[in-house]
Amino acid sequence: VINGRKWFTSGALNKRCTLLIVMGKTDADNPDVHKQQSMILVPKDTPGVRIVRDITAFGYDDAPMGHPEIVYDNVRVPAANLLLGEGRGFEIAQGRLGPGRIHHCMRLIGVAQRALETMCRRAESRVAFGRKLSEQGSVREDIAHSHCEIEQARLLTLKAADKMDRDGNKAARDLIAAAKIVVPSMACRVIDRAIQVHGGMGVSQDTFLPKAYVYARFIRIGDGPDQVHLAALARQLVRLHGAAAPRESR
Ligand SMILES: Cc1cc2nc3c(=O)[nH]c(=O)nc-3n(C[C@H](O)[C@H](O)[C@H](O)COP(=O)(O)OP(=O)(O)OC[C@H]3O[C@@H](n4cnc5c(N)ncnc54)[C@H](O)[C@@H]3O)c2cc1C
Repeated sequence: VINGRKWFTSGALNKRCTLLIVMGKTDADNPDVHKQQSMILVPKDTPGVRIVRDITAFGYDDAPMGHPEIVYDNVRVPAANLLLGEGRGFEIAQGRLGPGRIHHCMRLIGVAQRALETMCRRAESRVAFGRKLSEQGSVREDIAHSHCEIEQARLLTLKAADKMDRDGNKAARDLIAAAKIVVPSMACRVIDRAIQVHGGMGVSQDTFLPKAYVYARFIRIGDGPDQVHLAALARQLVRLHGAAAPRESR
């Protein structure tokens, strides 16, 4: 019997979505915090499942997928709907989130590259105060910085993907975290520069830039906020290097 409320259930408004994966605490007192959660399948039309509203991100509704708020009011499903077994929800989430996060990074590199190319086209075609924007030093710097940052992020993401292919998702955890920290912020900066070069047009519906910015910005929060990944990565690095012989401190 499931009772609860979940904001931001991405994709749940899509007509093709018929099955919800619900994660909740089933053993809140378990001393192992990673064994407190379970995942269970809930058909969307089960009595007690109520879609309260869609939630927008910066006003975008992301139709037809949506990110609705869903209430579960005494929802009954068979125990056989449990995925993998009771207490294994965190394990499933960890297995899925790594590949999910790197996909966001890959998409955002594409989005940033598109923003850079759009920025170059606009800078070359727009004349303001007697000169092409592409002749302004600050615009050139924006373009060059954007290229450098995209390439840095691309290489990091490729390294993480290569590690996943060779040694598995778990072994690549730190590289995936590094990419998840670096790429969305990079995309935000690049898209922001492209918006600036477009002037008023950059915030209007005439370019893809506003929607691209919203995507990059919410991925700094979605699938774990930057700070959580920074904390987890630092913990791992301290564990790895913190106990090493004090060579450098001599
Ligand atoms: C558009 C969108 C779609 C989403 N889709 C889904 C979905 O399909 N399924 C799903 O389950 N969730 C989804 N989410 C939810 C998303 O995963 C959470 O919003 C995210 O994990 C952050 O949790 P929170 O909102 O509770 O923020 P909080 O946990 O309240 O964190 C708020 C802020 O506090 C700070 N903070 C938090 N923890 C730490 C820390 N350890 N150290 C330092 N600072 C910290 C960070 O700045 C953080 O941004 C979606 C979110 C958005 C915006």
